[in-house]
Amino acid sequence: MTSGASDTDGAARIVRDVVCGFCGLGCDDLEVAVTGRAIAPRRACPEAARLLARTDAPPPSARIAGTPASLEDAAAAAARHLAASRSAVFSGLGADLEGLRRLYDIAMVAGASLDHAASAGLFANLERLARRGWIAATLAEVRNRCDVLVVLGADPASAFAHFFERAMPSAPVPADADAAPLFVPHAGGRSVVIVGGPLSDTSRAQLTRHDVVEITVPEDRIATAAAALSAALAGRATEALAGLPLGVAEALALLAGRLKAARYGVLTWNAATLPPEDAAAVAGAAAEAVDILNVTTRAAVFPLGGRDNVTGAHQLALWRFGYPLRTVVGAGTARHVPDLYATATALADADLLLHASAFRPDPPPGFDRGPVIALAHPGTAFAREPEVFIPVGTPGVDHAGHVFRMDSVICLPLQGLRPAELPSVAAAARAILAALGRAA
Ligand code: SF4
Repeated sequence: MTSGASDTDGAARIVRDVVCGFCGLGCDDLEVAVTGRAIAPRRACPEAARLLARTDAPPPSARIAGTPASLEDAAAAAARHLAASRSAVFSGLGADLEGLRRLYDIAMVAGASLDHAASAGLFANLERLARRGWIAATLAEVRNRCDVLVVLGADPASAFAHFFERAMPSAPVPADADAAPLFVPHAGGRSVVIVGGPLSDTSRAQLTRHDVVEITVPEDRIATAAAALSAALAGRATEALAGLPLGVAEALALLAGRLKAARYGVLTWNAATLPPEDAAAVAGAAAEAVDILNVTTRAAVFPLGGRDNVTGAHQLALWRFGYPLRTVVGAGTARHVPDLYATATALADADLLLHASAFRPDPPPGFDRGPVIALAHPGTAFAREPEVFIPVGTPGVDHAGHVFRMDSVICLPLQGLRPAELPSVAAAARAILAALGRAA
């Protein structure tokens, strides 16, 4: 699964089978035309096209308090601020694995709390996963085995444009023995049920070969509907059915029967787009439904997420510190307090903010209690000029790298598409570590 062969079309180099690292779904069939520094996407979803596109303009230089500087001088300035800090916060963390490794190195030297910009959904899911565990499917299992897919919440394609295309492809070409789904009899008859919705016209078009049911539920009733579904599966009478729109309770009872009859049911949701106060409850109800189903058949959850390698940041924190994100490290210790070290809360007591965002031009969160060090996309528009700005390349555009797919089981190799002129997050962080007197 590496970016594939390239050929030329006039002055442009056409690169096919490009692996995408932006949303976590890990599409590997993108195509771009590269002319000098310019990149023109030819096959990509709208989000990837927006984030891949580059002009031929030269990149900006690093800046210290708004004044252009060399990478070495900017790194030295960042190191001075870090050495003087007593309560640093590292935010964003949108970087490939090598970049994250070096950022975590800096955190261990200087002392800092760590959180990713897209971790809210992850922590809603961890409320269930960390306490009771769950049975989860990989994307390949959904694609090849799932015969009833239940979506809880909004249309997943709004955040993961190719989700249905990859998870529930249309019926295979009869002559292609390797086409998905490999293990679903009567593949054209797979079922997709969305509890929430509505599905977009694009999603409906992608799913025309499948049996699609839309159970319309307002956003603030998704958690109630999920609880009602798991109660119906358990055969419990429940007050949770109260408050649901007319006809929804009956539709959920039918869905429970359909899941019980399925060979491999999958429940999916995007915790990041659910109301924050309900996301953990939806994850818990989905996991409970799967527990009930697995007594008599096969079922699994498939939580959606993974933007900007948040899954990699989470995995790396577990390997390095034995704790997830929202942990403070330094002086040989690590302390995990998720409420305290969520970025917004941690910034209230911070004296320095280091923000990393290599995949997209997301600015740092608002902060005025101390210096800001930004290892950021060159197109970032800052509300306040950082004390140190080091523009960094994007993994999968300016340099190679690795990111985790949303299901945590695949580490995707990204390939650089154009000559590297910007340092990677890893290179910028290594320069800061050197200035701190630490070799990476
Ligand atoms: S759906 Fe996600 S992984 Fe696929 S091309 Fe779009 S941003 Fe990339």
